[in-house]
Amino acid sequence: MLILANVEATNGIKVSAKLLENELPILDALVEGISIVERDPKVRSVGYGGWPNMIGEMEFDAAVMDGTSRQIGAVGALQDSLSAVKVAREVMLRLPHVVLTSAGASRFAKECGFEPEAVLMPDSKRVWRNKIEKTVAPNLIDQFPNIPLAPLSNLITDPERVRDTTVFLGKDDKGDIAVCTSTSGWAWKYPGRLGDSPIPGAGFYADSRYGAAACTHTGEMTMRTSTARCIILAMQLGRSLEDAIKLAIEDLALLKGGFLGGVVIHAMDANENYQVINFNCSETIRYWVWRDGMRTPEQKIAEKHTF
Ligand code: ASP
Repeated sequence: MLILANVEATNGIKVSAKLLENELPILDALVEGISIVERDPKVRSVGYGGWPNMIGEMEFDAAVMDGTSRQIGAVGALQDSLSAVKVAREVMLRLPHVVLTSAGASRFAKECGFEPEAVLMPDSKRVWRNKIEKTVAPNLIDQFPNIPLAPLSNLITDPERVRDTTVFLGKDDKGDIAVCTSTSGWAWKYPGRLGDSPIPGAGFYADSRYGAAACTHTGEMTMRTSTARCIILAMQLGRSLEDAIKLAIEDLALLKGGFLGGVVIHAMDANENYQVINFNCSETIRYWVWRDGMRTPEQKIAEKHTF
């Protein structure tokens, strides 16, 4: 058994590990761990502790993927529930669809019993408001947000400073592999923007025959190269885990134009080898790993690749 998660998972991974030891299927164990992260105000990039979009509204992206059936459920720009990963699981379990967004996702969440709740933390609102007051031209501030937002987008969107996601991937003792993600996305993003976290193959992918992969940081890049799927497909074609990640990084490094930044790749193979690679992020990237037999998860530093 193995769980790999990024540093945001601090409190959640312990819960997932305990549940896995108690023989909960891997996908459900990961969902419970992410649910803890989504309600932790100290995690400033996911759920309640996350950041709103450009007009001060929270929009959550989340996904689950069962690597054995390869069923997926995802939500994008979900506004009024902190239980984004659980709503994503319900999409997988109850609907003939894979991804629901915005108003449809909220409606479905309510149908599933997730009542609307307060999702904007007062401190996040304060930081957002300061940013708006510093960025919007003084002659337009009274009309905000009823002004053209596109010109503001490049000035205000803050992917380098205020962003992240939580990703959990793992394998249970039956050999089933799963991956789950959840995020509030880039701070001050254009309303309705989806990142890679709810996009199958970009921010996540799992196949119990080969492994799982999940990405954080610049979703605008991994959506262009289908990074998570690329890694799993490369393993299916016979590459080792290391070579599969190398291929995905080489492909990311060839992107031209658009928003280019750092990407962190978390990946494991079906033999429980794992690797976390920091591609072009200036900061130190930490992550958690837990294997059966360990009392507590161990924190490690991701290997750095710079092009
Ligand atoms: N990948 C996420 C997104 O693009 C953000 C992050 O993980 O930093 O929304």
